[in-house]
Amino acid sequence: MLTCTLCPRQCHARRDDAAGQGFCRLPETMLIARIAPHLWEEPPISGSRGTGAVFFSGCTLRCAYCQNADISHRNQGRPFTPAQLADSLRRLVEQGVHSVSFITATPYVEGVVQALALYRPPVPLVWNTSGYETIDTLRRLDGVIDVYLPDLKHYTPGMGRLCAQAADYYDVATAAISEMARQTGLPQYDENGLMTRGTLIRHLILPGLTGESIALLNWVHDTLPGVPVSLMRQYIPCNNVAIPGLDRPITPREYKRVRQHMLMLNLPGFVQEKASASTDFVPVFGQDESYV
Ligand code: SF4
Repeated sequence: MLTCTLCPRQCHARRDDAAGQGFCRLPETMLIARIAPHLWEEPPISGSRGTGAVFFSGCTLRCAYCQNADISHRNQGRPFTPAQLADSLRRLVEQGVHSVSFITATPYVEGVVQALALYRPPVPLVWNTSGYETIDTLRRLDGVIDVYLPDLKHYTPGMGRLCAQAADYYDVATAAISEMARQTGLPQYDENGLMTRGTLIRHLILPGLTGESIALLNWVHDTLPGVPVSLMRQYIPCNNVAIPGLDRPITPREYKRVRQHMLMLNLPGFVQEKASASTDFVPVFGQDESYV
């Protein structure tokens, strides 16, 4: 039984094998919604054969507009022991993935570390996170994780509160991302352009909020020179989001404004093609074919 302080919610909540009383409502047992090669991350993560993506159930942030709400809000998934996860990681590697990605794994950090003690894949390990992390939990991953892939979502306390019940999101995420970059240093790539070590920050542009995007890009530029940004334009209203203004995709003009600012700052990184702004790219979760 766990009294949980793994994320910035600091619930001090009971989590046992079957149930959890914290904000995330997750048990201590790992719940996983999908384990499969995944081709749609950034090129240095997915490469040509994909990253071995482990989609954990639940989320410590639970954004109102999440496009994976069945797993992030409603905790859909199947229980896994560390030994079972280790077996799945081995099967992913046998399928030739370039990396292994642990996606929203924060509530299960101990289970992940136990699985990696049983089998450490011989490819870069990626921690794909909302950015809402404690320094203590990140230090648990120091020397374990090779690549951090954090979101940087909201600038103002008001948007953090409105979208994710986290008015402290900006303060927490910027401290967490600084710790990630401290651990990994600047990105390193192999001869095929795959990231072997580093931190890659993702930012999803939200409709009507280009000013927030620009402020966040400025923070990266001023604080973490050389750390790349993946600028994402895929926002679509999901999960019956009821926040005023978030009921539409971003416009080409909004995208252009933020992209031009990123270019003006000369930030290294990636921009996303328009074609990915579709629910067609949401993977299938929780079915037999969802697991290697
Ligand atoms: S992981 Fe879940 S229970 Fe633990 S502190 Fe975060 S929200 Fe609370």
